[in-house]
Amino acid sequence: MMQLEEFFYCVGCGKMVKVHDAKALFRTGFFRVVLPLGCCSDCSRV
Ligand SMILES: [Zn+2]
Repeated sequence: MMQLEEFFYCVGCGKMVKVHDAKALFRTGFFRVVLPLGCCSDCSRV
């Protein structure tokens, strides 16, 4: 069974990224209600 919480929408890539690779997760914003917004390590190290 897939856990939807393991993925978030990276605002940098514009695609789904595993939470494991997240550099920062935004607790305030949600995408389509169920998907958390965040920023993956690739987009955060710029
Ligand atoms: Zn990214």
